[in-house]
Amino acid sequence: MGNERVYNFSAGPSMLPLEVLEQAGSEITNYQGSGMSVMEMSHRSKVFDQIFQDTQAKFRKLFHVPEGYKVLFLQGGASAQFSMAPLNLIGKTGKADYAVTGNFSNIAYKEAKKYGTIQLAASSEDKGHTYIPSQDQLKLDPEASYFYYCANNTIYGTEWQYVPETRGVPIVCDMSSDILSRPVDVSKYGIIFAGAQKNMAPAGLTVVIIKEELAGHELPFTPLMMNYKTMIDKDSMYNTPPCWCIYILGLVLDWLESKGGVEGMERIKHGKAQMLYDVIDSSRLFRCAAEPGSRSDMNVVFRTGDDELDAKFVKESVAAGFTNLKGHRSVGGMRASIYNAMPAEGVEKLCDFIRSFDKNN
Ligand SMILES: *Cc1c(COP(=O)(O)O)cnc(C)c1O
Repeated sequence: MGNERVYNFSAGPSMLPLEVLEQAGSEITNYQGSGMSVMEMSHRSKVFDQIFQDTQAKFRKLFHVPEGYKVLFLQGGASAQFSMAPLNLIGKTGKADYAVTGNFSNIAYKEAKKYGTIQLAASSEDKGHTYIPSQDQLKLDPEASYFYYCANNTIYGTEWQYVPETRGVPIVCDMSSDILSRPVDVSKYGIIFAGAQKNMAPAGLTVVIIKEELAGHELPFTPLMMNYKTMIDKDSMYNTPPCWCIYILGLVLDWLESKGGVEGMERIKHGKAQMLYDVIDSSRLFRCAAEPGSRSDMNVVFRTGDDELDAKFVKESVAAGFTNLKGHRSVGGMRASIYNAMPAEGVEKLCDFIRSFDKNN
């Protein structure tokens, strides 16, 4: 292996800001004079409690979390929320609405069916998940306990550009792959959740933002560890939380603040994505499957239409210092995941590479 860092377009776990890795490295054996690593601390110690409280406060501030909402630091990945949300919320009416716009919302939809009557509010499967349904296309049941959708479809490269209007039905949203990339009006949501490993921290932490009044109505057989109320009452410390990931999230949030917060990130990420889409759209060889208007600013999915040429692109991209540009196995082609930590320079270099591949093939 070489000594140079590569431009890593992984969909997740993905890049972290270099400054964050360097700071974590500099204090890895002795965190701020404590004489130990954050990895070695009791989660009940004063030093760790400070890290925990600071990280929570920074998250609330940067993500503009209003009063009445709790920020939880849980485990089990985003996938655990596919069960946890229905277990805790569906008891209200026994029904829920799901919009299926890709792989992860489909898994969530199937999982929820174990616990109640689930209506498919919309599906983009008719066109291979290349678009996001419009508000008019959503079939909403006013008696649903909640409405569920996934904000950014990591595999298909589509992203919701609006918050659905549900007329009082609480919204549950999986923001695993676009959280902290743009401002969100949290007050429009019941629950927002995200696995950390795309845009926040190492794998092992799931951030859940929940309107407190929604907790406490779980189905009677809800496992202790999957009960939002348990975690709210114990401030995410019912058991040992993912301490190291929480510490790294704190560093990432400092970095985010130095870049202008989510407002700054929105400008930067949109510029990066636009640059890439422009190069693809004006190329001879490459096309995006996602419809304009539904395209993701986080995961840019593209292909030539010729599997051999795609494979050649991926192979040559590795030699040129890029990694993880191969598309997800279920859709093929290429995917460039350009989360917050991917510098504009990495995207510019990728654009140059795409242009020259387009010219030479
Ligand atoms: C990666 C991802 C998941 C799965 O996350 P885990 O933490 O591995 O469970 C779920 N939803 C979306 C949108 C994702 O991108």
